[in-house]
Amino acid sequence: MTPSFSSVLVNDAFGDPGVYVEIRWSKRALLFDLGHNDGLGARRLLRATDIFISHTHVDHFIGFDTVLRVALGRGKTLRLFGPPGLINNVQGKLQGYTWNLVDGYPLTLDVQEFHPQEIRRTLFRATDWFRPEEQPSRPLLPEPTTGRFTVLADPMFTVSAVSLNHRIPSFAYSLEEQFHINVNKQKLHEANLPVGSWLKEMKHYIWQGQPDEFRFTATLYDEHRREERELILGEVKEQFCTITRGQKIVYVVDARFDDENEAKIIALARGADLLYCESPYLDADKENARTRYHLTARQAGLMARKAQVRNLVVFHFSPRYTGQGEALEREARDAFLGT
Ligand SMILES: [Zn+2]
Ligand SMILES: [Zn+2]
Repeated sequence: MTPSFSSVLVNDAFGDPGVYVEIRWSKRALLFDLGHNDGLGARRLLRATDIFISHTHVDHFIGFDTVLRVALGRGKTLRLFGPPGLINNVQGKLQGYTWNLVDGYPLTLDVQEFHPQEIRRTLFRATDWFRPEEQPSRPLLPEPTTGRFTVLADPMFTVSAVSLNHRIPSFAYSLEEQFHINVNKQKLHEANLPVGSWLKEMKHYIWQGQPDEFRFTATLYDEHRREERELILGEVKEQFCTITRGQKIVYVVDARFDDENEAKIIALARGADLLYCESPYLDADKENARTRYHLTARQAGLMARKAQVRNLVVFHFSPRYTGQGEALEREARDAFLGT
């Protein structure tokens, strides 16, 4: 089985925090946080259609300029989600430049910020010199027990968030594939059907929840021949697809270790395939971590264990431990594995 999401840290564990998630087969990516991100390169940054920001401390937001720069002449709509104040932060960044020659550019920034009861939204269009255009807000509906709310619902996946205490709100995110569709290439071959973009369309219809009797026209390319064939969704699904559990990736940064944050993080990360969790401090310095509203490596490992995640990646190490990255990793791993 090839997973649909492939994720990487934007920088090494001592660098600015951030995770880049490529959605396979779709030439689309998601980005969590906007620290320094030049290392991703323009091609990968351009694929990011949706960006989820934990909070706008400088190490989580300074990469906004790089994204803006690469998207300016080529991008269409770029969505940014994040904490209260994000709209102002974006506006402030935009006001730092002169925009008299961009009115032919297609870029629109769609910025959405989370308030206790609503998600406020403002558009900034290059064609309008990035003047803010306020949009109607939508209700933010948190689950009463976990505080978790839906940020983005795509047919294929959902991104949800929870607000953590970092002395300011810091949002942790969970990315969940609805379910995973495996296509059996051997069976396709036996049925004389070529692979191709029609499989992507078929998956899209399945994710959309189209009924079994739904018909669609597939364009099939075999060698140099092109053929259009009408297919019935239920039949191809039955013959060539296996549906399995979807992938889940969780991103947690900048939060104090306290009962409320712990409960929220564990609920959000429950059963994740992969948890990216900050661990700036060693547990020996947990008082320091607490006063700075950050986690220790041990706390990250213990929460990952309680949430029964499959894999844990720790990062956002404090520069005070330069050269001791392995100690932070070991402490997190020991707590995670219970060794
Ligand atoms: Zn930080
Ligand atoms: Zn911070």
